[in-house]
Amino acid sequence: MRPASTHDAIVIGAGPAGTSAALALARRGWTVAIVEKSVFPRRKVCGEYISASNLALLERLEVLDAWRAEAGPEIRRVGFFSGDIGVEAPMPRAKSVPAAGDGFGRALGRDILDSLLLDAARSAGAEVFQPCRAIAIERDGACQAVRIQAGAASSRDEATILRAPVIVAAHGSWEAGPLPTQLEKNVRPSDLLGFKAHFSGSTLPPDLMPLLTFPGGYGGMVLADHGRMSISCCIRRDVLARLRGSLTREHGGQVSAAETVEHHLRATCRGAREALEQANLDGPWLAAGPIRPGIRSGYDGDIFRVGNIAGESHPIIAEGISMALQSGWLLALELGAAASGQARREAVGRRYEAGWRELFSTRILAAEAIARIAIGPGGGPMLRAVFGNFPQALTLGARLSGKTRAAPGFG
Ligand SMILES: Cc1cc2nc3c(=O)[nH]c(=O)nc-3n(C[C@H](O)[C@H](O)[C@H](O)COP(=O)(O)OP(=O)(O)OC[C@H]3O[C@@H](n4cnc5c(N)ncnc54)[C@H](O)[C@@H]3O)c2cc1C
Repeated sequence: MRPASTHDAIVIGAGPAGTSAALALARRGWTVAIVEKSVFPRRKVCGEYISASNLALLERLEVLDAWRAEAGPEIRRVGFFSGDIGVEAPMPRAKSVPAAGDGFGRALGRDILDSLLLDAARSAGAEVFQPCRAIAIERDGACQAVRIQAGAASSRDEATILRAPVIVAAHGSWEAGPLPTQLEKNVRPSDLLGFKAHFSGSTLPPDLMPLLTFPGGYGGMVLADHGRMSISCCIRRDVLARLRGSLTREHGGQVSAAETVEHHLRATCRGAREALEQANLDGPWLAAGPIRPGIRSGYDGDIFRVGNIAGESHPIIAEGISMALQSGWLLALELGAAASGQARREAVGRRYEAGWRELFSTRILAAEAIARIAIGPGGGPMLRAVFGNFPQALTLGARLSGKTRAAPGFG
């Protein structure tokens, strides 16, 4: 006889996509396991800005009060810093928000946000396996078996097996691995590597979130919680290697990738240089990637995918957390009350994928277009001409990127 399922659903990864799916399913009475490889709180490469379009969803997930209490100031202006220019325009106000004062997004460190969401999922009844890495997913009769390995355990024999009819891959897209849902590792000169740091004492205006462009990449700055300014960026692998080589020769000793990035930002972008002038690094620079923008599958091989692994936008539009939270929620809505039968899961998978594309395709394509221009030859001068002459294009870009679009079920 085959062993029975241990849970109704197993969610792999406790980023915003995994926790929103787990939380929503647990509140519907599902028995849910969440498998997360890292110990929380943990910092993460991310700009940490969350659009106001998510606040109704955070309220439904019962974490809005905690989010409001922790998050940084309202972001009422969107900016553009590139070379020597700095322009700004109003951030569009989101509609369908829980309260009149909730029209603007704010930033919250991922160390705080992800812990807050995971704690809420645990309180809703989800069983949390952490630190535990999912290392295999195999079909097992009507269920799938997820092999998980705790902490630093290295032998396959020490792994625990969880079984459920519904498997949700929410492990992000930046790490290769043995799971059928993980992406292959490919190294290309044009890869975009992600970097992020917090600084205290920055002079960046508290209500302004500027997009940064610089040779070889783009980024953003925003004031998050507890006076921490979050600066994050993506830079081409080949550009970074070249800059690092010349800085190392100049200094007569090895210079780290992060030091190179910070030096490049300060040297090529006046707005970033001024915001960092009196600021102090708060914790180390973090690196991740390469990022893997694109639209992938939401359901494949009887496994559901949410967040970055279903599809990822260039972070130039700062919408990845929105897409993660909302896709987890959308999947939970589609899964509904029961988990039975592969035919039923396939129907759910098709509906989920269609809903996902309707919600997110436009912003992924818009982000791709802006990112290509920003990184491509002559992109910096072109964007400086456009935004310098028509700052309103920044407001329009924020709208196109989904910042005012309600989460599914809240329109
Ligand atoms: C430079 C940069 C700046 C950004 N800025 C913003 C921004 O300002 N606003 C915004 O909305 N988005 C931003 N993003 C995008 C955002 O960070 C991502 O889209 C978001 O984190 C995706 O969430 P997720 O839940 O899908 O995956 P993740 O947040 O990556 O979470 C995945 C989780 O799965 C765990 N995991 C992985 N593998 C396993 C395994 N095998 N077993 C168990 N656990 C596993 C990981 O430890 C992690 O906790 C930015 C991205 C970059 C690169």
